[in-house]
Amino acid sequence: MPGVLHRADRGRRRLMRRVPLPAAVAAQITAHARSQPEREVCGLVSALDTGDLQVHAVENVAAQPDVRFEMDPRQQIHALQQMREQGRRLFAIYHSHPRGPDTPSALDRELAAYPEALYLIIAPDAGGVWRLHGYFLDTHGKAEAVELATAE
Ligand SMILES: [Zn+2]
Repeated sequence: MPGVLHRADRGRRRLMRRVPLPAAVAAQITAHARSQPEREVCGLVSALDTGDLQVHAVENVAAQPDVRFEMDPRQQIHALQQMREQGRRLFAIYHSHPRGPDTPSALDRELAAYPEALYLIIAPDAGGVWRLHGYFLDTHGKAEAVELATAE
């Protein structure tokens, strides 16, 4: 798994890039994942230059939604159109891994097409608490883990 940080590498954490994520946004994504724990949920997060973020939930239309996600194309286009009209940019793409892992899958890395966007993966930890994890995925299948600085 090239590029993905494993548990043994957590000691390098202080070298990770920090990305601020408002607590309200983290809470919205967590609520979305918890509402459908049997399937992967997905969506987009847009940003204004002022730093204001907005969550756009998109339906997962994958044939095997428990292990895959595929955004409903119409809803995705609608969300992107709405962002353009409101002068928003794509800030993040999120989806859940109800059965883990908390890292991007090989398919996630293969299909990544937005190197500027933050990829958020939400998965339950060993105690069953949903946790958000952030990555930047380049278009060559490489993932960079980042530290999410969740603040009010
Ligand atoms: Zn995934």
